[in-house]
Amino acid sequence: MNYITEPEKQLPVCYEADVFVAGGSCTGVFAAVRAARMGAKVVLVERANCFGGTATAGLVNIWHSLKDTDYKNQVIAGLTGEMTERLEKSGSAILTDDPSTAIKFDPNRLKYELDKLVIEEKIKVYLHTICVGALCENDEIIAAIIENKDGRSAVKAKFYIDATGDGDLMKYLGVTSYRENTLQPPTPCFLWQGDLEGVDHRKLIAEHGSEFGLPDDFGWSEDVPGLPNITLRADFHVFGVDCSKADDLTYTEIEGRRKAYALTELLRKYSDADPRIVGLNSLAGIRETVHYKTKYKADGWDMLYGKRYDDAILQGTYRIDMHDKDGGVKFFYLNGKTVYMKGAERNYVFGNWREENGVAIPEAKYYQIPFSVLVQEQYKNIIAAGRMLNADPMAYGALRVMVNLNQLGEAAGVAAVTAIDSCGDVRKISGVDVRKKLISGGSAL
Ligand SMILES: Cc1cc2nc3c(=O)[nH]c(=O)nc-3n(C[C@H](O)[C@H](O)[C@H](O)COP(=O)(O)OP(=O)(O)OC[C@H]3O[C@@H](n4cnc5c(N)ncnc54)[C@H](O)[C@@H]3O)c2cc1C
Repeated sequence: MNYITEPEKQLPVCYEADVFVAGGSCTGVFAAVRAARMGAKVVLVERANCFGGTATAGLVNIWHSLKDTDYKNQVIAGLTGEMTERLEKSGSAILTDDPSTAIKFDPNRLKYELDKLVIEEKIKVYLHTICVGALCENDEIIAAIIENKDGRSAVKAKFYIDATGDGDLMKYLGVTSYRENTLQPPTPCFLWQGDLEGVDHRKLIAEHGSEFGLPDDFGWSEDVPGLPNITLRADFHVFGVDCSKADDLTYTEIEGRRKAYALTELLRKYSDADPRIVGLNSLAGIRETVHYKTKYKADGWDMLYGKRYDDAILQGTYRIDMHDKDGGVKFFYLNGKTVYMKGAERNYVFGNWREENGVAIPEAKYYQIPFSVLVQEQYKNIIAAGRMLNADPMAYGALRVMVNLNQLGEAAGVAAVTAIDSCGDVRKISGVDVRKKLISGGSAL
């Protein structure tokens, strides 16, 4: 690669705050809200035109259950539930008895509710603003660099939260990272209007997909509450890409739109259905890119066995859900069940990990993750929260969903203020103390 030298220049400091948050999905917004509710002055920057990330710009409209696997006791508290109530009140969310689709919502309304939330909490926000760098002195970050319509400027804060999904801020700071050999592939989603009643679309895809450049692939779809006759479609992955790379991300977006229209054409040709695309995502649904090392790497078997921690900052029940590199999906449930599905017609294979491994200990009704999953060792004043988390592939399959990442966001907000109020060093604060504050602030049970 050739290089040219960018001339050194002075940057204006456009804002000073206690806490800076990069990335405004629910993970980032909830981190910002928690910090603001603890009295911090907070600034949040988001590169898109809205908050919500994958849940809004990516159109993914499902939050999983907040209850244990018996579906009786609530194990997840905090802003996911608060936001669900707001969405429900406006007729934009439906609660179901199915743990895997427990909370279905309209992504458009979520954008609007997140706008209202950040305004109510007096958080300084910048949309269409990308975080492009950071400045540090020794192990302390002193400014984040951002770019938007006003040009390039700096934001100074006491503590930084990276909620960019890919961990952009961590990358600029050179925090130790790793990538799995096989990344869970992205799925660009879209919205359809039209009735597929009586149409076996999975069979049609399996039979005619190759004519339209559609490989045999596992997909799913869901209603959108408040929008009759509209479905969210997540029919196709884009394989072999790493969406933290510019070329791969560009290819994924374009290939996603091509597949959406190809599927529509396939159904028009081979069935009586006449679906119309009424919405394309403005952000491809990215499942996995890079991970950053922290003191604790989440372990899938510890989760399945129900390991407990005094400093738990996350509780969950969402199954281990791993999308493989060529159209298969594997689920592991806490009760032992495993399911493997492959291709449009799914071709189920069932198993039981408890029986296969002779596990006699009682079944866990939910799993926990300790605070140290958020604590990197290189800098005193930054946390990354979101899908860049430190987890093995099985743990990652369960933790990457929003009810879980939302909790990481809330914990990051609380930990940021806890660090500012004490020694200023997140590596030295007590996870048990963070958990206590999460409970007293309504973020944990
Ligand atoms: C197709 C699909 C289906 C899924 N299904 C479900 C499901 O049913 N339920 C569920 O809970 N989860 C589901 N998931 C997983 C879940 O949606 C994601 O893992 C989760 O939303 C990731 O959240 P995040 O906050 O880490 O990242 P993101 O949602 O990717 O958010 C990152 C945010 O940061 C912004 N950003 C990025 N870089 C910068 C920067 N440099 N400066 C400023 N802003 C930046 C982005 O614009 C974005 O808003 C699904 C994922 C996919 C792809």
